[in-house]
Amino acid sequence: MKARYRYIIYPTDQQKQSLAQLFGCVRVVWNDALALCKQSEKKPKSAELQKIVITGAKQTEERTWLEDVSCVPLQQSVADLDIAFKNFFNSCKGKRKGRKVGYPKFKKRTSNQSARFTLRGFSIKKNGGIYLAKIGIVNPIWSRELPSEPSSVTVIKDCADRYFLSFVVEIQPISSEAKNPSIGIDLGIKTFAVMSNGEKAESPNYKKLDRKVRKLQRKIARQPKDSKRRNVTRIRIARLHNRIADTRKDFLHKLSTKIVNENQVIVLEDLNVSGMVKNRKFSRAISQQGWREFRTLCEAKSEKFGREFKVISRWEPTSQVCSDCGFKWGKIDLSIRSVLCLNCGTEQDRDENAARNIEKVGMGNRHDSKRALRDCQTTSVAEPDEASRIAAPLGR
Ligand SMILES: [Zn+2]
Repeated sequence: MKARYRYIIYPTDQQKQSLAQLFGCVRVVWNDALALCKQSEKKPKSAELQKIVITGAKQTEERTWLEDVSCVPLQQSVADLDIAFKNFFNSCKGKRKGRKVGYPKFKKRTSNQSARFTLRGFSIKKNGGIYLAKIGIVNPIWSRELPSEPSSVTVIKDCADRYFLSFVVEIQPISSEAKNPSIGIDLGIKTFAVMSNGEKAESPNYKKLDRKVRKLQRKIARQPKDSKRRNVTRIRIARLHNRIADTRKDFLHKLSTKIVNENQVIVLEDLNVSGMVKNRKFSRAISQQGWREFRTLCEAKSEKFGREFKVISRWEPTSQVCSDCGFKWGKIDLSIRSVLCLNCGTEQDRDENAARNIEKVGMGNRHDSKRALRDCQTTSVAEPDEASRIAAPLGR
């Protein structure tokens, strides 16, 4: 299986200049190729595109500077566009799992910049330096060792002006014994994850950083376009976004590693995240949570450690059924955190009960879910004052 390994680099001023030039060329080639695809009725083949937007363009007066950079990343740029189109078409036809992929977009000067080198364009030196064609040798901070020879490397410059090398390498799955047979996980806004074994994972608090971002966003809205001050604010906002993203990534990585290490089967609920984000009241909080990222990480690590990863349908009534006896109490208001089961008398924590049901459904230990679906349409939502159905409403 393939994995990505990323390292930070600190290029020299000269290299920064060469990289800026390279990023510009890669962007122009991508945009030219995309414009051409938009004009033509049928998408031209990758080889044809390369002929026009690279080889052909170098001969024209407006694009002679394409000669000054390595042609490897330029060709990769056209190849990447091809992949972007393929992903888009497959996503339209439903051949691709995961979230919907949109039509390829033009690249902007202000967003993340990248250039990809294949083996023809880079090499690893004995002292750990990386030679990039027409850029020179850069020295990554080797925070961990590369597990195998990389097949390609991408140079990235993010919005906060940090530089990275990202390698694609082949890794071997690791086989290890899991402590527990299975786990169900209920994802939420207040508590990030509640596990079927009763454990909880609180997500980091982004509020303080978020407040700073909003303040700067109000500031940038007042600043004149193309001014130097505006650019400074832009970078400050980008840095803050990076900090939020890094904190989140760190949290999600640690949690997913722990879960995948300890359990043989991991069951999650399929959440309609893009649908939820449309709800404006919650959108900011939901995008910050990183549920989708968490699922992707769990899935990838499950493959790496030989675990089974399962996702159950979002229509399973996991919060409407007692996880002990299977009694169905129906829909309950979001403010109700705890339910007393009328049938077996157990008091169930709402999220923990849901997590246990997710685990049960994922492991196939649950009765007919179709019947449950039919039933749930006839049950009304219980209000907090309906004492007969609910006990101990703890509130939010
Ligand atoms: Zn019960």
